[in-house]
Amino acid sequence: RNIAESTVYKSHNAFNRKSPLPVGALQSVARAYEEQKALSSILSIKRHARSTLGERIRGTRDPAEKSSILEEAKVMKKEVTELEEKLAEVEERLLSLALAIPNDTHPESPLGPEEAATVLSTHGPDPLPSDTARDHVHIGRALGLFDFEAGAVVTGSSWYYLLGEAALLEMAITNYAMSIAIKNGFKPVMTPDVVRADIALRCGFQPRDQNADPPVSQMYHIAQSSTPNSPHPEMVLSGTAEIPLGGLFANKVFAENTLPMKVVGLGRSFRAEAGARGADTRGLYRVHQFSKLELFVVCEEDASEEAMEDIRKVQVEIFEGLGLPFRVLDMPTEELGASAYRKYDMEAWMPGRGSWGEISSTSNCTDYQARRLHIRYRRPSPSPSEESSPSASLPFAHTLNGTAAAIPRLIVALVENGARFDDQGKPVGLDLPSSLRPFWLEGSLKPDI
Ligand code: AMP
Repeated sequence: RNIAESTVYKSHNAFNRKSPLPVGALQSVARAYEEQKALSSILSIKRHARSTLGERIRGTRDPAEKSSILEEAKVMKKEVTELEEKLAEVEERLLSLALAIPNDTHPESPLGPEEAATVLSTHGPDPLPSDTARDHVHIGRALGLFDFEAGAVVTGSSWYYLLGEAALLEMAITNYAMSIAIKNGFKPVMTPDVVRADIALRCGFQPRDQNADPPVSQMYHIAQSSTPNSPHPEMVLSGTAEIPLGGLFANKVFAENTLPMKVVGLGRSFRAEAGARGADTRGLYRVHQFSKLELFVVCEEDASEEAMEDIRKVQVEIFEGLGLPFRVLDMPTEELGASAYRKYDMEAWMPGRGSWGEISSTSNCTDYQARRLHIRYRRPSPSPSEESSPSASLPFAHTLNGTAAAIPRLIVALVENGARFDDQGKPVGLDLPSSLRPFWLEGSLKPDI
């Protein structure tokens, strides 16, 4: 409550985010918490009083007194049941109010919208001049790399087939990026792509955006049963492997010396992309389904800033190895999702689009996901003063996630930067980075690498 009312906090970055702190949210949480505490204490007093009734009945021979105690017991039973129901309702309200509160913000995150991002570093060769002849859709058609028309017939717009060399490219990039992640200590994981909506929510993804008007969903719901006591939980197609990777560590307590846990997961990401339109939806840039390799780290509470820099190094190694011109951005407050304390995006130059395009995103979620997923670690020997406090001896871990390879965006960047043309300006092939050679499947299709 003190925090909620402090003017310092009110001017804080938490109010200036993509998923802003709803007005009065902290006060509502504080109120619901007080209500829950008061109800719990009345309930335990009533339960205790009720437990003494049996003794009182046994202690009396007077039938009139016995029946009056029995009457009292009936009333008490009703009161306890009503209190239990009320408490369950308040606890549910408290949880949903608390889940709507975004993470705190790193003091160095730039304030404001996307344009306020600061460039931390640039890498790779000099960007080629913008050139519509390098548009990946045009080149892909000429080289038979994609089929968007069949994707539209079979599923709908922004669904696609990767053909021949493009299909091999997906596998080669995946294995190339995976090999660099493994070399840097990340353990490979294959994830489930269907997840409980509840797990997505705990990772900071709203399965339904209740703030939008009309409410839209950025996720595909595959089995909806919203009745509270349904045995079938609501399921969604995962929008990112970050969700099942976070879930992998849920409800676990790790020995401190086993941290950091570093995993790299391969999943299919499904995005409803409701409302997306314009140049972004052209070709492979913004699609509804894509393969993505995701880095995920669980670490101690004071180690996440360092872990973020480690993830950044792995990503720089991957994208430099692909020979792409790219830059690293420190993302501003209005670009931070609910869970992110700080976010770095990487953008590659895409000459056919004539712009920088986001190829990766890294978030330090500090303890936001760990609190909601119950991920803790055990300090080896708490000092005597700490022993009484579970948060001191069993602190919440910090979690981080970052894209190692979002396949379609990398294909766009590689095709637009690597296309070769004949004298008439017709695309005749792709110059692909030699780093992919060890990962190219043997076969009749020989890439120029
Ligand atoms: P996000 O989890 O939204 O930060 O996305 C991670 C990365 O996936 C982004 O940096 C993009 O490179 C890529 N990406 C996101 N959405 C899409 C999409 N709809 N189609 C293709 N790639 C995407």
